[in-house]
Formats: sequence, C-alpha cells, structure tokens
Amino acid sequence: MLASALETYASWDLRKVAIPSRSRLYRLEPVGIGTPLVESLTGYISRLAEAHCVNPGVLMEKELATLVNKEYGGANLHRIYNYTTALNGSGVMAMDLVQALQKLTLRDDLGFLTLLAWYKLFPSRNLLRPIRAWCPSCYQEWYEKKQLIYEPLLWSLDVVKVCPYHHHQLIFQCPHCHQKNTTLAWRSRPGYCSRCGEWLGLILSQESANRKVLKKNELEQKIWAAKAIGELISATPYLNDALSSTAIALTLSKWVEEIAKGNIAEFARQINIPRNTVWLWCKGKNLPSLEALTNICYCFGVSILSFFTEETNNLYLSRKLVATEVKTTLRKSSKPFDAEKVKFHLEALLTNDESPPLSMEAVARQLEVNRRTIYKHFPDLCRAISARYTSYQKDCHKKIIEECCQEVRLVAFDLHNQGKYPTESAVSELISKPGYFRYKKVRLALREANRELEL
Ligand SMILES: [Zn+2]
Ligand SMILES: [Zn+2]
Repeated sequence: MLASALETYASWDLRKVAIPSRSRLYRLEPVGIGTPLVESLTGYISRLAEAHCVNPGVLMEKELATLVNKEYGGANLHRIYNYTTALNGSGVMAMDLVQALQKLTLRDDLGFLTLLAWYKLFPSRNLLRPIRAWCPSCYQEWYEKKQLIYEPLLWSLDVVKVCPYHHHQLIFQCPHCHQKNTTLAWRSRPGYCSRCGEWLGLILSQESANRKVLKKNELEQKIWAAKAIGELISATPYLNDALSSTAIALTLSKWVEEIAKGNIAEFARQINIPRNTVWLWCKGKNLPSLEALTNICYCFGVSILSFFTEETNNLYLSRKLVATEVKTTLRKSSKPFDAEKVKFHLEALLTNDESPPLSMEAVARQLEVNRRTIYKHFPDLCRAISARYTSYQKDCHKKIIEECCQEVRLVAFDLHNQGKYPTESAVSELISKPGYFRYKKVRLALREANRELEL
C-alpha cells in the first residue's frame, strides 16, 4: 500500500555540463563592422581598457605584451608610440595585435577594425596618417544623442581629410592644449585629448571649420573621397575575393581599353600620371596608392567600390566627363600665367573704393594664381593692395574699440543706477565683447565713466 503511494521521479543527470570557455578580457562588441564608420583597433583598445577601468597603456603592458612579438617593440607603448598608427594597418603589427586581442576576448572579428583585408591591395606607405585625427562635430553629436563615443577607422586614413557627414576638415590638434595626439597613447580615451584630458567634441559650422582652406571643388573632391573610401571600408568584410591586386591591374587595363582605345600613353596623359607608372600598374608589377586610385576613380565618376566589383561595361564612362574632370581636378593648375589679366585685375581692385579691400591671399585665390607668382610680377601693386587691406583692418579695429568703449560707459551707468558698483568684472559680464578689456582704451573708458559717476 505504502509502496504504491510513492511516486518515481526522474533521476538526476550528473554528467558535467559543457561550459563554453571564458574570455580573459570582456568580450566587448566592436562598433559598426560593415559600415563606413567601423571602429578602429586602437579605438577598441581604448574602450576595452576603459571597460576594465585601466589606461590603455596598462592594458597593453600587463595583458598584451606577453602575447605579442617583441621584435619591433611589441605591445610596449613607450617603445611604439610613434608607430601606433600601424596597429590599424595592414602589416605585421596589426596582425599580431588582432591575434592577441582575439585570444583574450574570444572574438573572431577584430581584423575588420584594421586594414588587414587590404594587405596586398595598397602600398602601406602613407596609407594611414601618423597621428590621431577626429571630427569634433561627430563626437559632440554622439554625446548629445547619448550614443557611444568611439574612434572610426576612417579617420585614420591619410587620404580622408574631411568628415563625410559634416563636410568639414578633420582636426589634428587639441583646441585646449594645442598638442597632437599619437594614434594610441598611454591615456587614450575616445572623445578626449590624451595629453590634457579635455573633451574634443564641438559643433563646428562648415565655414569656420574650413576657414583655412579650400576651394569649393577641392572640398567637393575631398567629401567624395571620404564617402567613397567609407563605402569601400563598409563592403570590405564581404568582399574577400574581389579585393585583389590582380583585380586592380585587370580593371585598369579595361579602362585603358575603354577610355583610350588601349593606348596607355593617352590614358596616362588624361590622368596626369607618368606613362611608365600606369604601365606597371596595368601589368600588375606595381600597385597604385589608395590616393592615386581614389583620384582616378573621382575623375571618371566611378566609386572605388564599383572599381572592384563592377564590369566596366556597366559603368557609364563618359569621355566628355573624363576630359573636363581631369582638367579641373587632377592637373595642378597648369594654366599659363596671364600677366595682362592679372595686372588689370589688381589695378581695378586698387581703384575700386566701394567694396571692402581684400587681402593679397584672397586676391590670389580669386585669380587662381599662386600669390608668390603675382608678387614676383607686380611687387608694387601687391604691396599697395596689402597696405590698403592692413589700413582697412586697423580702421575696423579702431571702430570696434570705440563702440566697445561706448558700451562700457552705458553699462557702467546702468549698474550704478541699479545701486551696484561697476567693477571691471561686473561690466565685462554684461558687454558683448568681454575680452576687449585687454585693450587699454576700453579700461580707460571704464575709469572715465566711474570718474563721471564720482566713484
Ligand atoms: Zn563628423
Ligand atoms: Zn589637449
């Protein structure tokens, strides 16, 4: 009776469960694989270090150094600071570090954070820039949208000069300490200067960011290049077979056929590159740099990705486009110097009193002629133009100072009426150009006002 009341339970399985092996470091997920803004390996190291609450230098020294070949300095940052850019590249330093990191994180996709897939594709010389570059607007935007802050691989390529999203030039120098950052430093941290630790994000207007530069067509070409290279980076994980040096030789040969009826000399002339160089590329005996290939693709209006993936028959290579684009982009202004025209222009500028005077630099830009060349031909006219510009600048400055003095006076009276003492710091908080207290005249204006107020 008792026995029948007892239920039978399933017996326990006492075999050991297979637990997947643990990784030594966090298995941190890389950002953006398969997109133009995939993370760089050095940026990944910074984030990984941050996740473990140590500096990248410590992470490299304590965890990676034993796994990496020491011949060239290994993972000892003090010995490889100036080469850390190579950690994102296509050579042995990147390869060693990827393998070491994959061992520690048990990931298998960290190679995509470097240019290893472009090994054999582009010469490594000048492929990556030797220092850190960044887009302050990207940082700021990610920060404001509460997105992850990281370092895209795209920013480390030397031929990428502008942000493809914000269309202004990448920055190389910290706005706080005015120093440059190595690609990976002991204290690297995405979004922050590795020297002074300050935040590097800032929304820049295109005009202010591109102030130093750039003719409109130059900027357009740089934006095009950044986008085209981003596209190639985003497709790289899926393109193993297409990305070969043989493909480059083959496609270039087809283009020579298509565009110049097989005449290498003619094709070379059109892209303004020595004939022998093009011949060596077509024969596969030499490789064009990424920059050269980007320029060629730009001239023919074909993306770099299409260069590798599409049949030339499908590309609408228009000879007309070729002829005009090449002239305006690849050739460095080989226009002969038109002395008559330049002289006429300079004289006209000097007699025209209506518009504000231009600097010689602006004039040279207008004429699309080198400033030194103009000086050499017309030194007197140039000096007259510069002098006029300088005196105009001085007048403007004087006027602004006077306006500032008046403002200071009004604010001082205002404060006094409110029963407050118009000190320099109280006034400077209320005027539109507080920094102008560095000018003696502005300080005197305040003293004068206070005297009038019998203070
Ligand atoms: Zn940007
Ligand atoms: Zn700094």
